[in-house]
Amino acid sequence: LTILGLESSCDDTAAAVVRQTAGDAAAILSSVVVGQVDLHAGFGGVVPEIAARAHAEKIDLCVEQALQKAALTLTDIDAIAVTSGPGLIGGVLSGVMCAKGLSAGSGKPLIGVNHLAGHALTPRLTDEAAFPYLMLLVSGGHCQFLIAKGVDDFTRLGGTIDDAPGEAFDKTAKLLGLPQPGGPAVEAEAHKGDAKRFPLPRPLLDRPGCDMSFSGLKTALLRTRDKLVAEHGGLRQQDRADLCASFQTAVSDVLAEKTRRALTLYQELNPAQPTLAVAGGVAANQQLRAVLETVCADNNTSFTAPPLALCTDNAAMIAWAGLEQFRAGHRDDLTLSARPRWPLDRTSPAMLGSGK
Ligand code: ATP
Ligand code: FE
Repeated sequence: LTILGLESSCDDTAAAVVRQTAGDAAAILSSVVVGQVDLHAGFGGVVPEIAARAHAEKIDLCVEQALQKAALTLTDIDAIAVTSGPGLIGGVLSGVMCAKGLSAGSGKPLIGVNHLAGHALTPRLTDEAAFPYLMLLVSGGHCQFLIAKGVDDFTRLGGTIDDAPGEAFDKTAKLLGLPQPGGPAVEAEAHKGDAKRFPLPRPLLDRPGCDMSFSGLKTALLRTRDKLVAEHGGLRQQDRADLCASFQTAVSDVLAEKTRRALTLYQELNPAQPTLAVAGGVAANQQLRAVLETVCADNNTSFTAPPLALCTDNAAMIAWAGLEQFRAGHRDDLTLSARPRWPLDRTSPAMLGSGK
């Protein structure tokens, strides 16, 4: 099977071709990502209208390049997969309209893919992770523990009750005068800093279950920054690095502890040897990857994390999720619509009992 994937749900326009022949590992034949960081610089975040316009302008080119790099034409493709939600509606629409046009013109089947399923199934593209596995999806807009049981079958165990960690990284960068996207910028600063200098909060660790909160962390950081600025008439280089290190460690600590709890909960429901997979943009963070690896080693659990380029938004993950869902019989037609909201899980946490 050879699938063309399109992604345009946030601020990356992307197209990719993924192929899997029966019995073989999947191959990414091409993966083109055109970012929009420059367009949104100065606005302090992604501006939906600017993003939508840029996606509409770039998506055709991305598709053309992805096919060219894979040395294929549309006739060689078995189906077209496109992110049809969740995300910024204007951007999602650009991708969906383009995919519909390609499908109508070529007669190739169309598959609307949930962007989060793209992230959550990536460990099966890069590491052939077998179902079921425990997924920590940690990105710019989401943070949740899921039991991945099938290509379209996810159960949520818990997650953030407010901000996503990626959002917290981006806001931290903004507060400290660092460029967007905040994750890589804060991570680079954190390397030079002392993580023990500022005692930032670890919210909800005193509560049972694997729900998390990251908005208080941001407020504490803002207060600490303002105090430092008032004391020294500005933010000194070392203060900034120490704040980044303290922030990153607070996020990693919370995610590590909640992962321990999610593993316990998971093992109560699944007696088999567990695998933890992490995915989403924040999974590119080296400190987070290292602490999760330690948690897994301590709990006799295998650990898998995609290569960095497949953690942040890309279309290879959409093509792959499309491939898996196509194989499972999933098809859409030209009535496919864009869904700004589209939760991945189907089971409400209530069905799992109160958790631990
Ligand atoms: P979602 O997938 O929830 O819809 P999104 O698609 O906007 O949101 P992703 O592209 O999956 O998010 O991830 C982007 C986020 O990941 C940004 O918030 C970015 O700051 C963060 N990020 C990227 N690299 C790193 C890193 N090395 N460390 C921490 N955070 C990172
Ligand atoms: Fe994403």
